[in-house]
Amino acid sequence: MTITSRWSVPIPCCSLPQWIFGSACGPLPDHQAFIDPENPDTNFLTMSDYRLLSKRVALGLQQAGLEKGDRVLIFSGNSLYFPSVFLGVLMAGGIVSGANPTFVARELAYQLKDSGSSFLFVAEHAAKTAFEAAAEVGLPRDRIFILGNTPLPVSQLPQTPYPGPGVNGRVNGARHWTELLAGNLTQASTWTWDEPSNPEETTCCLNYSSGTTGVPKGVEISHHSYVANGVGVAHINKLRPDFIQKQKTDRGLAFLPFYHAYGQTYFIANLPHLHVPVYVMPSFDFTKMLSHIQRFRITTLPVVPPIVVLLAKHPATKDYDLSSIETIGSGAAPLTREVCEEAERLFPGRDLFVRQGWGMTEVTCTSMSWDPTSPIRGSGGVGEVYPNCKAKLVALDGKTPIETAGVTGELWVTGPTLMRRYWRKPEATVETVVVDADGTRWLRTGDVAFVEEYRPGGIFHVVDRVKELIKVKGNQVAPAELEGILLENPDVADAAVVGVTIKGEEMPRAYVVRSVNSTASEEDVARWMEGKVTRYKQLKGGVVFVDAVPKNPSGKILRKQLRDRAQKEVGDG
Ligand code: AMP
Repeated sequence: MTITSRWSVPIPCCSLPQWIFGSACGPLPDHQAFIDPENPDTNFLTMSDYRLLSKRVALGLQQAGLEKGDRVLIFSGNSLYFPSVFLGVLMAGGIVSGANPTFVARELAYQLKDSGSSFLFVAEHAAKTAFEAAAEVGLPRDRIFILGNTPLPVSQLPQTPYPGPGVNGRVNGARHWTELLAGNLTQASTWTWDEPSNPEETTCCLNYSSGTTGVPKGVEISHHSYVANGVGVAHINKLRPDFIQKQKTDRGLAFLPFYHAYGQTYFIANLPHLHVPVYVMPSFDFTKMLSHIQRFRITTLPVVPPIVVLLAKHPATKDYDLSSIETIGSGAAPLTREVCEEAERLFPGRDLFVRQGWGMTEVTCTSMSWDPTSPIRGSGGVGEVYPNCKAKLVALDGKTPIETAGVTGELWVTGPTLMRRYWRKPEATVETVVVDADGTRWLRTGDVAFVEEYRPGGIFHVVDRVKELIKVKGNQVAPAELEGILLENPDVADAAVVGVTIKGEEMPRAYVVRSVNSTASEEDVARWMEGKVTRYKQLKGGVVFVDAVPKNPSGKILRKQLRDRAQKEVGDG
């Protein structure tokens, strides 16, 4: 039985930039869109600066050779100018793909190659890795733009090339991103981007996810899906009875990364659309976060579970005035109600509720969350289905519908935020998106859930995962990627990687069959991954030698069996 959202909200047929700004040249409200919390008086962008700068990046990219549909990879942490680079690519007709700047060259090269990116923006500190990866895939240096660490006040953004380090501002042949702005200020002020003729069929982002199985894949999200996500978030926000009043004093703090859909949708699109200023942190730092909340009277705090744990347990929280916070939303991984309640105790006498949401890269971002006016405080649920979306539960046979409240099954979801497809991977798309007799496309999420009541607005609980995916502090780790790397080790004859929970945190654990005559130790195998994948993908859950990896007759790894074994070996987690 299908559970439909209680809300059906019109979705404008337009590009993401059009939805954020309303128009390419019309007047915009005067407020600050992005602010550097370290230098708030000088380093900020107003809404007009945000749009103008994005248009200048778009013009610069077009002049540098970007054509419609070209992919542009952004390999950087957060900065004041990241959102303008992101929207500049979209305005120029390109597609953004974001990557974690802690990736090693191998991981970046994979994404550059798989996406076929023809431009790369890179944070200064990650330039060495970027050059190595670019060389591996044959991306020329002059297609690489350095995103400086030092925020330049917008009044100083040059009209002539940036007088940065190196010859003519170039770093080893790569250009500083501000070169894109050279001489185009006047043109940009009247320039209008081309609206896509069909926003539903025009991809704006390739966000990488392994989905239910295999290696990371590019998830094609359309302009329409990004707008639909924003419309849903805005609708939920506007349910607050005091929304109009509160909107004037709302303030967001962005430490969630802009290279990920969670950070992108929330901070680059939705909050600017709602005219809420965003303070931009380059990366997460707990005590800085607390101090910025106090200093800037931050009201809205989207987080991932480890941050709620810190809020609940870290002694420093008591040293700061956090009373400005109105909403805390957590997603990306499971979180218990007990931890939420511990965090809620930081706000005595307040009706503050840590709202857990559920989302997935394949449905743009969040697809379930709590109605802020709901009197129910939940029991660990992830809330109800987002506006315009639907969900159902299907038994693990993939066929039998579940129709009884409280009974678990695989969560299937659909709606306007559903991805178009996996980039250049038609088989993976067919495996993951099921088209029913009515022609509705359903995403098999690989998550196990139940619903409290079969009615519109029924509250869902996500209780387990039947997909391979491992989540480390909200980041995706694809077992297939780690297994592939382990199999390159001459000491390894076979390997399987599963997630294991230790002290409340999920981490990858490998079961390895040693090659004949190998004398490698477990530590040697774990060390093999160093430098081959980023920190959070390391085998922190341990390495265990086995005689054989358990597999079914067709050779598929019996992951459930290994997960149960792993959890028994390490204890309760
Ligand atoms: P991603 O595509 O990286 O956003 O990861 C999506 C996956 O994260 C989901 O399919 C779930 O397995 C997990 N996830 C997201 N939100 C929650 C949540 N609130 N509770 C449990 N798991 C979650």
